[in-house]
Amino acid sequence: MIGAGYVGLVSGACFADLGNTVWCADKDKKKILQLNNNKIPIYEPGLKDLINKNYSAGRLKFTTNLSLAIKNSDIIFICVGTPNKKGSQSVDLSFVYKSIKEIAKFAKKKKIIVTKSTVPVGTGDEIEKILKKKKRNKIEIISNPEFLREGEAIRDFRYPDRIVVGSNNTKIFKTMRKLYLPLINKGSKFFTTSRRGAELIKYASNAFLATKITFINELSNLCEKSNINVEDVSLGMGSDVRIGSRFLRAGPAYGGSCFPKDTKGLVSTGDKFNINLSVVKTVIKSNQRRILLHTKRIEKIMESNLKNKKIIFLGVTFKPNTDDMRDSTSLKMIPFILKKGANVEYYDPTGEKSEFKKLKNCKFNKSVKNICKKADLVILHTEWDEFKSLDFKKLIKKKNFKIFDLRNLYNFNEMMNKKIKYYSIGRPSVN
Ligand code: NAD
Repeated sequence: MIGAGYVGLVSGACFADLGNTVWCADKDKKKILQLNNNKIPIYEPGLKDLINKNYSAGRLKFTTNLSLAIKNSDIIFICVGTPNKKGSQSVDLSFVYKSIKEIAKFAKKKKIIVTKSTVPVGTGDEIEKILKKKKRNKIEIISNPEFLREGEAIRDFRYPDRIVVGSNNTKIFKTMRKLYLPLINKGSKFFTTSRRGAELIKYASNAFLATKITFINELSNLCEKSNINVEDVSLGMGSDVRIGSRFLRAGPAYGGSCFPKDTKGLVSTGDKFNINLSVVKTVIKSNQRRILLHTKRIEKIMESNLKNKKIIFLGVTFKPNTDDMRDSTSLKMIPFILKKGANVEYYDPTGEKSEFKKLKNCKFNKSVKNICKKADLVILHTEWDEFKSLDFKKLIKKKNFKIFDLRNLYNFNEMMNKKIKYYSIGRPSVN
């Protein structure tokens, strides 16, 4: 695995657990040092035990020495980041191409290179050109996009709905099928297509899920104005098997390391081929507007008076069970609130975040109970289980505190019965 991040580390540990010998190579010395000293650089449930087990068994190795990892491997998975280029929607493939050049340098015999990283249509073709230039014609380049979700990554790796493999050389399918056989035998679908087809399937899947979220988010705005509970709408719609209930929960704008960048990446691929992907473009715009909408809502809830108010964030990551802060909506919401003169304190089960360290009047508190004491407004940003049963009436000492629940985690009627000033998403409002 080239790249020991959320994808490379989880996939590496899981492949090792299936009995393979896996080398995880990363250029980040600190990360590899941590891993070789039994410290896991990311938070992912179950990952520590899985790594320990396979590391002790000698099946999982961590190194910064790419040459060593490449020489010792038959199949090389590219798992490096593919962010958007700064100030642009297009995809920065420099990490991918750098790894390819390293592989070309060190690979002495036949190898299969697999792009697990999310890469735009035609990247495999570009890689092939690079390899040809370096006279490395024996290296096969195929696509096997990853669909795991952070927070559920190990389960997702072990029980994927489908394994997508794209290659223009159909002989490769046999090797990849053999590698994935333990998962196929448990019921996962093994789906083969062209290399470009596999590359597009990944972007299409993420853009479609982002569209579903954005659709229900927009409907939640209508629900708020028309006195309807959006959760009833989600249930009523989602019960139709053609629609399905997942990714139909209204909440904040979508964030995280994939949807924001992949929707943009897909639009830029469309542009490259002169195709106007207008639906996806609208989704991106709507999602950006949603962050603004929520910051305006916070101002309204606080009656345009945020100065010196104590605003508490419960959770700051883009979703629970991960420490990943990439494109989390809290990164935009917190600076906005601070600009209005408020003091922000946040608690996150995965600890303090470097992203907020330099912000004046923004503090981390490591106790979820203490943090609430002096709150004027509590913003439930991320729905961790540990927030589900908080008794705000007991925790908060201020009389007129308010709760803004971005995830509809709390029961509306219970909040009303307790006479709490409670605001949520797409539900009839108290004011
Ligand atoms: P990440 O940033 O967590 O990890 C990438 C790792 O690659 C880093 O540790 C970095 O140091 C390393 N790296 C970069 N260049 C390198 C090089 N030349 N040699 C060795 N190591 C190098 O990224 P991630 O979240 O694991 O995502 C990786 C890819 O998988 C992306 O394309 C992403 O879109 C895709 N993906 C991510 C997820 C997810 O949930 N995170 C899910 C599916 C697909």
